[in-house]
Amino acid sequence: MIPLFGHAAVQKRLASAADRGALPASLLLHGPAGIGKQRVALWLAQRLLCDGPAPRPCGACQHCRYAEALTHPDLHWVFPRPRLKDSDPTAADVFADYGEAIAERAKANGLYAAPGGNEGIFIATVRAIVQTASLAPAVAARKVFIVGDAERMVSQEGADQAANAFLKLLEEPPANTNVILTTSEPGALLPTIRSRVIAVRLARLADPEVAAFLAESRVAERLAAESLPREHDTLLRLANGAPGTLLSHGALGDAMTRARRLLAAATADRAERMRAAFVQGSARARGEFSDALDALTVLLHERTRAAVSANDADSALRASRAVNAVERAKAAAAGNANPQLVTFTLLGELEAALR
Ligand SMILES: [Zn+2]
Repeated sequence: MIPLFGHAAVQKRLASAADRGALPASLLLHGPAGIGKQRVALWLAQRLLCDGPAPRPCGACQHCRYAEALTHPDLHWVFPRPRLKDSDPTAADVFADYGEAIAERAKANGLYAAPGGNEGIFIATVRAIVQTASLAPAVAARKVFIVGDAERMVSQEGADQAANAFLKLLEEPPANTNVILTTSEPGALLPTIRSRVIAVRLARLADPEVAAFLAESRVAERLAAESLPREHDTLLRLANGAPGTLLSHGALGDAMTRARRLLAAATADRAERMRAAFVQGSARARGEFSDALDALTVLLHERTRAAVSANDADSALRASRAVNAVERAKAAAAGNANPQLVTFTLLGELEAALR
Protein backbone atom coordinates (compact mmCIF):
# COMPACT_ATOMS: atom_id res chain seq x y z
CA MET A 1 0.00 0.00 0.00
CA ILE A 2 1.29 3.48 -0.70
CA PRO A 3 1.80 5.55 2.46
CA LEU A 4 -0.72 7.90 3.97
CA PHE A 5 -0.23 11.48 2.80
CA GLY A 6 -1.45 14.50 4.77
CA HIS A 7 -3.81 14.52 7.76
CA ALA A 8 -0.88 14.91 10.18
CA ALA A 9 -2.92 16.84 12.76
CA VAL A 10 -5.74 14.28 12.78
CA GLN A 11 -3.24 11.42 13.02
CA LYS A 12 -1.67 13.10 16.04
CA ARG A 13 -5.05 13.64 17.69
CA LEU A 14 -6.19 10.06 17.11
CA ALA A 15 -2.84 8.64 18.23
CA SER A 16 -2.85 10.65 21.43
CA ALA A 17 -6.43 9.59 22.18
CA ALA A 18 -5.46 5.95 21.58
CA ASP A 19 -2.46 6.30 23.93
CA ARG A 20 -4.69 7.67 26.68
CA GLY A 21 -7.23 4.92 26.11
CA ALA A 22 -9.67 7.68 25.16
CA LEU A 23 -10.28 6.75 21.53
CA PRO A 24 -14.03 6.41 20.93
CA ALA A 25 -14.83 2.82 19.94
CA SER A 26 -17.12 4.01 17.13
CA LEU A 27 -15.71 6.73 14.90
CA LEU A 28 -16.92 8.48 11.78
CA LEU A 29 -14.27 10.04 9.52
CA HIS A 30 -15.90 12.47 7.13
CA GLY A 31 -14.73 15.01 4.55
CA PRO A 32 -14.57 15.50 0.77
CA ALA A 33 -14.29 12.47 -1.54
CA GLY A 34 -10.76 11.51 -2.54
CA ILE A 35 -8.82 12.94 0.43
CA GLY A 36 -7.91 9.52 1.87
CA LYS A 37 -10.45 8.89 4.62
CA GLN A 38 -10.29 5.10 4.24
CA ARG A 39 -6.50 5.31 4.13
CA VAL A 40 -6.57 7.17 7.46
CA ALA A 41 -8.91 4.47 8.80
CA LEU A 42 -6.46 1.76 7.66
CA TRP A 43 -3.59 3.62 9.32
CA LEU A 44 -5.55 3.86 12.57
CA ALA A 45 -6.46 0.17 12.38
CA GLN A 46 -2.78 -0.71 11.92
CA ARG A 47 -1.88 1.47 14.88
CA LEU A 48 -4.49 -0.24 17.05
CA LEU A 49 -3.35 -3.73 16.00
CA CYS A 50 0.42 -3.06 16.23
CA ASP A 51 2.17 -4.63 19.23
CA GLY A 52 5.64 -3.35 18.34
CA PRO A 53 7.58 -0.59 20.10
CA ALA A 54 6.42 3.05 20.03
CA PRO A 55 6.04 5.09 17.96
CA ARG A 56 3.23 2.96 16.61
CA PRO A 57 2.50 1.68 14.09
CA CYS A 58 6.06 0.32 14.13
CA GLY A 59 5.85 -1.02 10.58
CA ALA A 60 7.94 -4.06 11.51
CA CYS A 61 5.83 -6.33 13.74
CA GLN A 62 3.76 -9.15 12.31
CA HIS A 63 0.53 -7.19 12.79
CA CYS A 64 1.90 -4.19 10.91
CA ARG A 65 3.09 -6.38 8.05
CA TYR A 66 -0.29 -8.10 7.74
CA ALA A 67 -2.14 -4.79 8.02
CA GLU A 68 0.01 -3.14 5.35
CA ALA A 69 -0.59 -6.10 3.03
CA LEU A 70 -4.34 -5.81 3.78
CA THR A 71 -4.35 -9.43 4.97
CA HIS A 72 -4.67 -8.98 8.73
CA PRO A 73 -7.36 -11.43 9.95
CA ASP A 74 -8.59 -8.97 12.60
CA LEU A 75 -8.84 -6.04 10.21
CA HIS A 76 -12.22 -6.22 8.49
CA TRP A 77 -12.65 -3.69 5.70
CA VAL A 78 -15.95 -3.36 3.85
CA PHE A 79 -17.08 -0.86 1.23
CA PRO A 80 -19.71 -0.68 -1.51
CA ARG A 81 -19.80 -3.81 -3.71
CA PRO A 82 -22.17 -5.10 -6.39
CA ARG A 83 -24.99 -7.17 -4.91
CA LEU A 84 -24.08 -10.88 -4.67
CA LYS A 85 -25.99 -13.21 -6.98
CA ASP A 86 -27.06 -15.47 -4.13
CA SER A 87 -30.17 -13.87 -2.64
CA ASP A 88 -29.24 -14.87 0.92
CA PRO A 89 -25.43 -15.04 1.12
CA THR A 90 -23.73 -16.28 4.29
CA ALA A 91 -21.03 -14.38 6.18
CA ALA A 92 -18.47 -16.67 4.52
CA ASP A 93 -19.80 -15.74 1.03
CA VAL A 94 -19.62 -12.06 1.94
CA PHE A 95 -16.06 -12.21 3.24
CA ALA A 96 -14.95 -14.30 0.26
CA ASP A 97 -16.23 -11.51 -2.00
CA TYR A 98 -14.44 -8.84 0.04
CA GLY A 99 -11.31 -10.98 0.10
CA GLU A 100 -11.17 -10.80 -3.70
CA ALA A 101 -11.97 -7.10 -3.81
CA ILE A 102 -9.33 -6.28 -1.19
CA ALA A 103 -6.71 -8.42 -2.95
CA GLU A 104 -7.36 -6.32 -6.06
CA ARG A 105 -6.90 -3.12 -4.08
CA ALA A 106 -3.70 -4.49 -2.53
CA LYS A 107 -2.38 -5.32 -6.00
CA ALA A 108 -3.06 -1.70 -7.02
CA ASN A 109 -1.05 -0.44 -4.00
CA GLY A 110 -4.24 0.44 -2.16
CA LEU A 111 -5.49 2.73 -4.94
CA TYR A 112 -9.02 2.40 -6.27
CA ALA A 113 -11.75 4.35 -8.03
CA ALA A 114 -14.93 5.65 -6.43
CA PRO A 115 -17.71 3.02 -6.20
CA GLY A 116 -20.14 2.71 -9.10
CA GLY A 117 -23.81 3.62 -8.82
CA ASN A 118 -24.97 0.01 -8.45
CA GLU A 119 -22.59 -0.78 -5.60
CA GLY A 120 -23.81 -0.79 -2.03
CA ILE A 121 -23.18 -2.15 1.45
CA PHE A 122 -25.98 -4.68 1.60
CA ILE A 123 -27.63 -6.26 4.61
CA ALA A 124 -25.68 -9.53 4.23
CA THR A 125 -22.51 -7.50 4.81
CA VAL A 126 -23.98 -5.81 7.87
CA ARG A 127 -24.99 -9.23 9.20
CA ALA A 128 -21.46 -10.58 8.57
CA ILE A 129 -19.94 -7.65 10.50
CA VAL A 130 -22.25 -8.16 13.45
CA GLN A 131 -21.50 -11.91 13.55
CA THR A 132 -17.74 -11.38 13.38
CA ALA A 133 -17.84 -8.67 16.03
CA SER A 134 -19.21 -11.17 18.53
CA LEU A 135 -16.18 -13.49 18.07
CA ALA A 136 -12.80 -13.19 19.79
CA PRO A 137 -9.97 -11.66 17.72
CA ALA A 138 -8.08 -14.23 15.61
CA VAL A 139 -4.46 -13.23 16.26
CA ALA A 140 -4.32 -9.66 17.61
CA ALA A 141 -5.41 -8.20 20.92
CA ARG A 142 -8.35 -6.49 19.23
CA LYS A 143 -10.36 -6.37 16.03
CA VAL A 144 -11.11 -3.38 13.85
CA PHE A 145 -13.96 -2.88 11.39
CA ILE A 146 -13.75 -0.25 8.67
CA VAL A 147 -16.91 0.63 6.76
CA GLY A 148 -15.96 2.84 3.80
CA ASP A 149 -18.56 5.02 2.07
CA ALA A 150 -20.91 4.17 4.93
CA GLU A 151 -23.73 6.28 3.43
CA ARG A 152 -24.13 3.41 0.96
CA MET A 153 -25.43 1.11 3.68
CA VAL A 154 -28.71 -0.02 2.21
CA SER A 155 -31.70 -0.40 4.46
CA GLN A 156 -33.71 -3.35 3.30
CA GLU A 157 -37.15 -4.77 3.89
CA GLY A 158 -37.17 -7.41 6.64
CA ALA A 159 -33.63 -6.59 7.73
CA ASP A 160 -34.54 -4.82 10.95
CA GLN A 161 -32.82 -7.39 13.10
CA ALA A 162 -29.43 -7.01 11.43
CA ALA A 163 -29.78 -3.23 11.27
CA ASN A 164 -30.61 -3.05 14.97
CA ALA A 165 -27.72 -5.36 15.83
CA PHE A 166 -25.40 -3.05 13.90
CA LEU A 167 -26.70 -0.01 15.79
CA LYS A 168 -26.11 -1.85 19.04
CA LEU A 169 -22.58 -2.68 17.85
CA LEU A 170 -21.91 1.02 17.27
CA GLU A 171 -23.40 1.97 20.60
CA GLU A 172 -21.72 -0.66 22.76
CA PRO A 173 -18.98 -2.44 20.84
CA PRO A 174 -17.63 -5.57 22.56
CA ALA A 175 -14.36 -5.06 24.44
CA ASN A 176 -11.34 -4.69 22.15
CA THR A 177 -13.44 -3.81 19.13
CA ASN A 178 -13.26 -0.61 17.08
CA VAL A 179 -15.60 0.43 14.31
CA ILE A 180 -14.47 3.17 11.93
CA LEU A 181 -16.98 4.51 9.40
CA THR A 182 -16.03 6.89 6.59
CA THR A 183 -18.22 9.04 4.39
CA SER A 184 -18.02 12.03 2.09
CA GLU A 185 -21.75 12.62 2.54
CA PRO A 186 -22.44 12.65 6.28
CA GLY A 187 -25.88 14.14 5.56
CA ALA A 188 -26.81 10.98 3.63
CA LEU A 189 -25.89 8.71 6.53
CA LEU A 190 -28.81 7.09 8.33
CA PRO A 191 -29.56 9.38 11.31
CA THR A 192 -29.70 6.35 13.62
CA ILE A 193 -26.07 5.61 12.68
CA ARG A 194 -24.91 9.20 12.81
CA SER A 195 -26.12 9.69 16.35
CA ARG A 196 -24.09 6.69 17.57
CA VAL A 197 -20.63 7.66 16.32
CA ILE A 198 -18.11 10.36 17.20
CA ALA A 199 -17.45 12.41 14.07
CA VAL A 200 -13.97 13.56 13.05
CA ARG A 201 -13.68 15.88 10.07
CA LEU A 202 -10.80 15.43 7.63
CA ALA A 203 -9.70 18.32 5.41
CA ARG A 204 -8.42 18.55 1.85
CA LEU A 205 -4.67 18.03 1.41
CA ALA A 206 -2.23 20.88 0.87
CA ASP A 207 -0.64 21.03 -2.59
CA PRO A 208 2.77 19.65 -1.48
CA GLU A 209 0.94 16.64 0.02
CA VAL A 210 -1.02 16.16 -3.20
CA ALA A 211 2.28 16.41 -5.13
CA ALA A 212 3.82 13.71 -2.92
CA PHE A 213 0.79 11.49 -3.50
CA LEU A 214 0.98 12.06 -7.27
CA ALA A 215 4.66 11.10 -7.34
CA GLU A 216 4.15 7.95 -5.28
CA SER A 217 0.94 6.79 -6.96
CA ARG A 218 2.15 7.44 -10.53
CA VAL A 219 -1.29 8.80 -11.37
CA ALA A 220 0.11 10.76 -14.31
CA GLU A 221 1.30 7.55 -15.97
CA ARG A 222 -2.11 5.96 -15.51
CA LEU A 223 -3.81 8.95 -17.13
CA ALA A 224 -1.32 9.16 -20.01
CA ALA A 225 -2.86 6.12 -21.64
CA GLU A 226 -6.29 7.73 -21.75
CA SER A 227 -5.57 11.13 -23.31
CA LEU A 228 -6.46 12.78 -20.04
CA PRO A 229 -4.47 15.73 -18.69
CA ARG A 230 -1.28 14.67 -16.95
CA GLU A 231 0.85 17.81 -16.53
CA HIS A 232 1.77 18.31 -12.92
CA ASP A 233 0.13 21.75 -12.44
CA THR A 234 -3.00 20.59 -14.20
CA LEU A 235 -3.30 17.54 -11.97
CA LEU A 236 -2.79 19.64 -8.84
CA ARG A 237 -5.61 21.92 -9.92
CA LEU A 238 -7.90 19.04 -10.91
CA ALA A 239 -7.22 17.25 -7.63
CA ASN A 240 -8.14 20.33 -5.62
CA GLY A 241 -6.74 18.79 -2.44
CA ALA A 242 -8.46 15.44 -3.06
CA PRO A 243 -6.08 13.43 -5.28
CA GLY A 244 -8.12 10.24 -4.91
CA THR A 245 -10.64 11.73 -7.32
CA LEU A 246 -8.01 11.40 -10.08
CA LEU A 247 -8.22 7.62 -9.73
CA SER A 248 -11.75 7.59 -11.16
CA HIS A 249 -10.62 7.92 -14.78
CA GLY A 250 -14.10 7.49 -16.16
CA ALA A 251 -15.48 10.33 -14.05
CA LEU A 252 -12.46 12.50 -14.84
CA GLY A 253 -12.87 11.90 -18.58
CA ASP A 254 -16.58 12.72 -18.32
CA ALA A 255 -15.83 15.96 -16.46
CA MET A 256 -13.32 17.03 -19.14
CA THR A 257 -15.85 16.25 -21.88
CA ARG A 258 -18.56 18.24 -20.13
CA ALA A 259 -16.18 21.15 -19.60
CA ARG A 260 -15.22 21.20 -23.31
CA ARG A 261 -18.92 21.21 -24.24
CA LEU A 262 -19.60 24.11 -21.88
CA LEU A 263 -16.75 26.09 -23.36
CA ALA A 264 -18.04 25.46 -26.88
CA ALA A 265 -21.55 26.52 -25.86
CA ALA A 266 -20.24 29.73 -24.24
CA THR A 267 -18.95 30.97 -27.55
CA ALA A 268 -22.10 29.94 -29.47
CA ASP A 269 -25.38 31.90 -29.50
CA ARG A 270 -27.85 32.47 -26.65
CA ALA A 271 -30.14 29.60 -27.67
CA GLU A 272 -27.21 27.21 -27.56
CA ARG A 273 -26.25 28.50 -24.11
CA MET A 274 -29.79 27.91 -22.83
CA ARG A 275 -29.74 24.40 -24.25
CA ALA A 276 -26.36 23.66 -22.63
CA ALA A 277 -27.61 24.99 -19.29
CA PHE A 278 -30.76 22.90 -19.55
CA VAL A 279 -28.90 19.62 -20.09
CA GLN A 280 -26.69 20.41 -17.09
CA GLY A 281 -29.36 18.54 -15.22
CA SER A 282 -30.83 18.72 -11.80
CA ALA A 283 -29.42 18.95 -8.30
CA ARG A 284 -28.98 15.18 -8.33
CA ALA A 285 -25.89 15.61 -10.51
CA ARG A 286 -24.32 18.16 -8.16
CA GLY A 287 -21.06 16.23 -7.75
CA GLU A 288 -20.70 15.83 -11.53
CA PHE A 289 -21.43 19.51 -11.99
CA SER A 290 -18.72 20.65 -9.61
CA ASP A 291 -16.27 18.20 -11.26
CA ALA A 292 -17.11 19.79 -14.63
CA LEU A 293 -16.42 23.25 -13.18
CA ASP A 294 -13.03 22.06 -11.86
CA ALA A 295 -12.23 20.70 -15.32
CA LEU A 296 -13.32 23.99 -16.87
CA THR A 297 -10.84 25.84 -14.67
CA VAL A 298 -8.13 23.53 -15.95
CA LEU A 299 -9.04 24.16 -19.60
CA LEU A 300 -9.07 27.92 -19.08
CA HIS A 301 -5.73 27.88 -17.25
CA GLU A 302 -4.29 25.97 -20.20
CA ARG A 303 -5.60 28.73 -22.48
CA THR A 304 -4.06 31.40 -20.30
CA ARG A 305 -0.72 29.63 -20.30
CA ALA A 306 -0.75 29.14 -24.07
CA ALA A 307 -1.64 32.83 -24.58
CA VAL A 308 1.14 33.96 -22.25
CA SER A 309 3.76 31.85 -23.97
CA ALA A 310 2.54 33.19 -27.35
CA ASN A 311 2.93 36.75 -25.96
CA ASP A 312 -0.78 37.34 -26.52
CA ALA A 313 -1.60 39.50 -23.48
CA ASP A 314 -5.11 40.21 -24.69
CA SER A 315 -6.13 36.54 -24.89
CA ALA A 316 -4.42 35.82 -21.57
CA LEU A 317 -6.44 38.56 -19.89
CA ARG A 318 -9.68 37.25 -21.39
CA ALA A 319 -8.97 33.68 -20.30
CA SER A 320 -8.14 34.80 -16.75
CA ARG A 321 -11.43 36.76 -16.61
CA ALA A 322 -13.16 33.56 -17.67
CA VAL A 323 -11.41 31.73 -14.81
CA ASN A 324 -12.88 34.27 -12.38
CA ALA A 325 -16.35 33.63 -13.79
CA VAL A 326 -15.90 29.90 -13.17
CA GLU A 327 -14.78 30.60 -9.59
CA ARG A 328 -17.99 32.59 -9.02
CA ALA A 329 -20.00 29.69 -10.45
CA LYS A 330 -18.23 27.27 -8.09
CA ALA A 331 -19.13 29.45 -5.12
CA ALA A 332 -22.75 29.60 -6.26
CA ALA A 333 -22.87 25.83 -6.84
CA ALA A 334 -21.41 25.21 -3.38
CA GLY A 335 -24.17 27.42 -1.95
CA ASN A 336 -26.83 25.03 -3.25
CA ALA A 337 -27.89 27.14 -6.24
CA ASN A 338 -29.64 25.35 -9.10
CA PRO A 339 -26.97 24.00 -11.54
CA GLN A 340 -29.06 25.03 -14.57
CA LEU A 341 -29.26 28.66 -13.42
CA VAL A 342 -25.61 28.70 -12.41
CA THR A 343 -24.64 27.30 -15.81
CA PHE A 344 -26.72 29.80 -17.74
CA THR A 345 -25.23 32.73 -15.81
CA LEU A 346 -21.74 31.28 -16.18
CA LEU A 347 -22.07 30.80 -19.94
CA GLY A 348 -23.20 34.41 -20.33
CA GLU A 349 -20.21 35.61 -18.34
CA LEU A 350 -17.84 33.36 -20.27
CA GLU A 351 -19.24 34.70 -23.51
CA ALA A 352 -18.62 38.27 -22.35
CA ALA A 353 -15.13 37.43 -21.09
CA LEU A 354 -13.98 35.48 -24.14
CA ARG A 355 -15.71 37.56 -26.85
ZN1 LIG B 1 3.79 -2.84 14.48
